[in-house]
Amino acid sequence: SREIRLAARPVGEPRPSDFTLAEVAVGEPQAGEVLVRNDWMSVDPYMRGRMNDVKSYTPPFKLGAALDGAAVGTVIASESADVPVGATVLHGAGWREHAVLPAGHVRIVDTSIAPAQAYLGALGMVGLTAYAGLVRIAPVEKGDVVFVSGAAGAVGILAGRIARHLGASRVIGSAGGPDKARRLVEEFGYDAAIDYRAGDLAEQLAAAAPDGIDVYFDNVGGDHLQAALGALNTNGRVALCGAISVYNAAGPVPGPNNLGLAIGKRLSLRGFIVTDHQDLATEYAQLAAGWLADGSLKYSETVVDGIDNAVDAFLGLLRGANTGKMLVRLNAS
Ligand code: NDP
Repeated sequence: SREIRLAARPVGEPRPSDFTLAEVAVGEPQAGEVLVRNDWMSVDPYMRGRMNDVKSYTPPFKLGAALDGAAVGTVIASESADVPVGATVLHGAGWREHAVLPAGHVRIVDTSIAPAQAYLGALGMVGLTAYAGLVRIAPVEKGDVVFVSGAAGAVGILAGRIARHLGASRVIGSAGGPDKARRLVEEFGYDAAIDYRAGDLAEQLAAAAPDGIDVYFDNVGGDHLQAALGALNTNGRVALCGAISVYNAAGPVPGPNNLGLAIGKRLSLRGFIVTDHQDLATEYAQLAAGWLADGSLKYSETVVDGIDNAVDAFLGLLRGANTGKMLVRLNAS
């Protein structure tokens, strides 16, 4: 069985040499434990932050040890009456092909609603992030114009769909490149799309939102936040979800130069971490199951095969190689 370890703390953009693929023995479950064969693992932008040796809301990865993160797999041996062999489970021991875990650390998921890997995306933290951001952090009101950055990513595609369900009158998304911009409108239900690489962001946003925006769901930070501050209407709301444009920065980066607009416009800007909003999980799971069933919460995935390609999947995610959720399919025996 194989696992990926952090070999060196990346400086700036991570390099393949910052990681190693190690061969390890498959463990045996003891009383109360299960052995899981991981079928899918998630790569997520927040993992970049955990590669730095800094205090944050999640502890840093340890040098020389396996990385971790969300995964779904199949129980292949069990010493727990609660979690039988054959169950599909969600847990936190990704970046490895097999994991021995206490039964209490895995959650059995219902694959009759959606395929197992959806619990790493639309039916998991990714979906809850989009939902919490738009119902609690920057609540969407009926008739609002909503702008989402990183709109062709995992959270962004769902945020666009959810904004519509919450009554937005117009949903605008930004993404890198003409192909993603086209897909935002043709496939992912956005009313208008901005290719942020194609020209001035503020001008493009003004053209897409002639009456301004009421809610901004920020996945990107930096230039996108600055453009949104310019476009926001009085009493506008901003959900500060991520700032991927600065995750690889080796030092402090300048903030938006127009934050003063927040005063006269009476804006609310609020950061959040999805794990603090678990109380919305049941409500969201019920809504999402219904929306998946009626086809109104279509999502998208980019799949990379094999643990030996997991590092490439992660590096690709930071550069925009994905549309929708970036996933690694493990195919371990
Ligand atoms: P995505 O699927 O959106 O993947 C990351 C995307 O970021 C890439 O596809 C790329 O798309 C885009 N990107 C990379 N560099 C830049 C740049 N310089 N400027 C603009 N876009 C860039 O990832 P997720 O959906 O998983 O996460 C989206 C955001 O949400 C991240 O910032 C993440 O940290 C945050 N997040 C926050 C959570 C919370 O609790 N607050 C929970 C989960 C996610 P493109 O080709 O368009 O550039």
